[in-house]
Amino acid sequence: MTTAQPSHPATVSRSDEIGTLMASFNRMIATIEQQSDEINQFPKRLEQLTRQAFRDPLTNLPNRALFMDRLTHGLTRAQRRHEHLAVLFLDLDRFKVVNDTLGHTVGDQLLVEVSRRLTSALRPGDTVARLGGDEFGILLEDVADAETAETVAVRVEESLGQPYRFEGREVFVTASIGIALSSAKLGLPEEILRDADLAMYHAKAKGKARHEVFDGSMSAPALDRMDLEMDLRSAISRHEFRLHYQPILRLDTGKITEVEALIRWQHEKRGLLQPDEFIGLTEETGLIVPIGQWVLSEACKQARVWQVEYPTTPPLVMSVNLSAKQFQNPKLVEEITQALDESGLAASCLKLEITESTVMQDAPVTLTKLTELKELGVRLAIDDFGTGYSSLGYLKRFPVDTLKIDRSFVKGLSPDGGDNAIVRAVVTVAKSLNMDVTAEGVETEAQLAELRALGCDRWQGFLFARPVSPERVAPLLASDQPKEKEVARA
Ligand code: C2E
Ligand code: MG
Ligand code: MG
Repeated sequence: MTTAQPSHPATVSRSDEIGTLMASFNRMIATIEQQSDEINQFPKRLEQLTRQAFRDPLTNLPNRALFMDRLTHGLTRAQRRHEHLAVLFLDLDRFKVVNDTLGHTVGDQLLVEVSRRLTSALRPGDTVARLGGDEFGILLEDVADAETAETVAVRVEESLGQPYRFEGREVFVTASIGIALSSAKLGLPEEILRDADLAMYHAKAKGKARHEVFDGSMSAPALDRMDLEMDLRSAISRHEFRLHYQPILRLDTGKITEVEALIRWQHEKRGLLQPDEFIGLTEETGLIVPIGQWVLSEACKQARVWQVEYPTTPPLVMSVNLSAKQFQNPKLVEEITQALDESGLAASCLKLEITESTVMQDAPVTLTKLTELKELGVRLAIDDFGTGYSSLGYLKRFPVDTLKIDRSFVKGLSPDGGDNAIVRAVVTVAKSLNMDVTAEGVETEAQLAELRALGCDRWQGFLFARPVSPERVAPLLASDQPKEKEVARA
């Protein structure tokens, strides 16, 4: 744009009428120059203001207001063209943990990096917005069906699941995603966003790091969750939790050497609830800490009872799952010591299972924590191995006894390949690091044969037994006994 040339013709001062005229003419020129500058600045200012109103300053993504605006237009367009659009509501899992443990600067860097990955995982026409905190919205236009939207969700999950490096540390983050599709009749933008949000809550409740598609039967989470949360708070005192146990067998001898304790909630109205229906909520509310303490204490007592009743050499080992919150609890060592003391169980007969994503979340801190636990004499296992992104460098330094191969890989085992290479790699890594390997989720004889061929040490799965109540585990332990008893009697 051109600006008015600063032409100041009247430097000559005259005291007559012409002089007065020239002076006011000069003043006019100066005013015009100034105003033209302001006018030139105007588009820039306007852009700045618009940016402030519609962009998130940290990530530079559209904010909630702009997202809703695009959603409103998108919905009208979709209805006119007889198409669908999809809204993905994404919430990072454990973002608070990152913020609390690594600080807000790393938290901010993570949000920026997540935004970058989200943008590059989508088509240019799609909208990604930061809706607030660690919540993001994605608007996909012209989506054929829910499956197409799920394909995008998977792509997003894969991209976000790659490790992040901040200040020389590896950080792992997952997200829970809810998906809602527009219907044939014109709905309100708030409604479709609420549906996606609801589906996201279901994804969280089912254990996080997954996506769920909204369907009409999903109950309003606010009520449902609040109800469940209230019930959870009193469930311990009402003795509603149960432990079921699943035997773990050695592949070479076929004997039961361990059992894994798996929690159930006998809800007075909802019946027997499985962990994926409530563990997520216990973690979010922090209730996992007292509940986990109950699990530890109960499982240790049960193990001791079985050891006395069905003695074996070496004695039966009890495996107990620890969630991330429990692992971070500063009183963990104290609580484990208490559970061992009260039950009389030897520390070497307790194995703590910690998931790969938990241990790798902040590897240096984990190393200290694991070493502390190891000094107690307990055994340590990395659960669901293969689903996270282990840093081999750290794995080597962790004092871990066992890698538990996630059941998704066991499912893929077949004589003609499948996931055999992954299982073989896990066994090789474990052996070279002096760890043993347990395979979980074994359902067929064929899988068992493959595991044997691959050099796996132990297995658990429906093929032998589902997790069952203690009364139903006892006969299984007893049937492993006869020879020893006969020897003893002889
Ligand atoms: P996990 O520790 O990986 O437990 C193994 C899960 O695989 C169990 O699910 C078990 O029932 C299931 N499973 C075992 N064999 C098979 C099989 O052959 N086929 C199939 N399809 N599944 C099999 P469950 O009991 O529903 O527990 C789910 C998860 O909940 C556990 O995964 C664990 O992460 C968590 N969890 C369970 N109990 C506790 C607890 O006391 N504390 C904590 N923090 N987490 C727990
Ligand atoms: Mg486990
Ligand atoms: Mg597992």
